[in-house]
Amino acid sequence: MRFLVVDDIFANRLLICEILNGFGHEITEAENGRVALDLIEQHDYDAILMDIEMPVMNGIETTDHIRNKLHHPKNKTKVIALTAHNPALFFEDYSDVGFDDLLTKPYSIDKLKGLVKEIEDGLKK
Ligand SMILES: [Mg+2]
Repeated sequence: MRFLVVDDIFANRLLICEILNGFGHEITEAENGRVALDLIEQHDYDAILMDIEMPVMNGIETTDHIRNKLHHPKNKTKVIALTAHNPALFFEDYSDVGFDDLLTKPYSIDKLKGLVKEIEDGLKK
């Protein structure tokens, strides 16, 4: 699958990219939402892993833009939030933004494996 990993912290991107690369997926990185949107306009991704707090353009603004400003089918791209938030509170606070799922920090191989499986299952439907 083709993933876009959006996070302002290089070490966070590196860890996710190494794990996903190890699974055989194709990864592109962006350090903020503005860079991510430029990439999304030009390329198709199966899923976007989106950090919340970033300079220039944060994950909330970026996901809102994807959902409301991009044309079909790009506006339906799966967006997974990357956050240290409690998952229950996260979806309460950001229920209207349009995230498909959540990956909580700290990341692990097992968490990413589970997430990839969920996305693959979802894509087959
Ligand atoms: Mg951040």
